[in-house]
Amino acid sequence: MSGDFLLLILSSPSGAGKTTLTKRLREKFPDLLFSVSHTTRQPRPGEVDGKDYHFTGRAEFERDVAGGRFLEWAEVHGNLYGTSLAEIERARATAGCRGMIFDIDYQGARQIKAKVPEIVTVFILPPSMEELLKRLRGRASETEEVVQRRYTVAKKEIEHYALFDYLVVNDRLDDAFEHLSSVILAERSRWWRQAPKAEALLRTGTAHAEAALVAFPGLAR
Ligand code: ADP
Ligand code: 5GP
Repeated sequence: MSGDFLLLILSSPSGAGKTTLTKRLREKFPDLLFSVSHTTRQPRPGEVDGKDYHFTGRAEFERDVAGGRFLEWAEVHGNLYGTSLAEIERARATAGCRGMIFDIDYQGARQIKAKVPEIVTVFILPPSMEELLKRLRGRASETEEVVQRRYTVAKKEIEHYALFDYLVVNDRLDDAFEHLSSVILAERSRWWRQAPKAEALLRTGTAHAEAALVAFPGLAR
């Protein structure tokens, strides 16, 4: 794995727009893989097992926790959610992959940050609590009881904002998307991620990726 590999956590209270923003990010940055979490919650209409989540039973989930198969896991809104170690392995094994996006809650973000300090963490905020409730209802895939439970927990989640490296308010989707893209581009520009190009420039006269590979064959995975 090269130093150019970006691990990015996107968190938010439910309904603030992470899933929507993540979908757009994947179109713009196809070399970033999306981590597919395990969950014990029921699939929403249109959700595909293995693509949106690995849907699993509670007993199986707890067996995997006991077996040490999760990088992190947490109980969120009464269901269990976790990131398997296999997801990171998948990213490592995928040719051309330059990073992975994790859509996880603040508890999971805290656990991964403790293990992988270089991970970049972003918290998405709704523009208002009123708008958050509107978006939760607008998703129309959950009962009013589930909507209210998620809305009640939102404030507690937002109180953890200072755990994160970046905060992005998702008011207008295009603006939030531009902010998020800027975070990715800025993080990719860190000197230690770009060092091979500078070294290649010094040694071969060009900073192009092929030249970097000639100068540092170890970068090829
Ligand atoms: P999350 O993944 O954070 O739970 P979603 O991405 O599912 O949230 O968004 C919740 C709802 O809000 C969806 O119906 C989505 O289309 C809508 N939504 C997301 N971002 C915006 C925005 N900037 N303006 C208006 N509606 C939005
Ligand atoms: P949803 O049920 O709306 O898909 O997700 C509910 C919450 O669970 C969101 O805050 C989401 O970020 C979080 N979540 C999803 N996958 C994981 C995971 O693997 N680990 C943790 N800790 N939280 C997750």
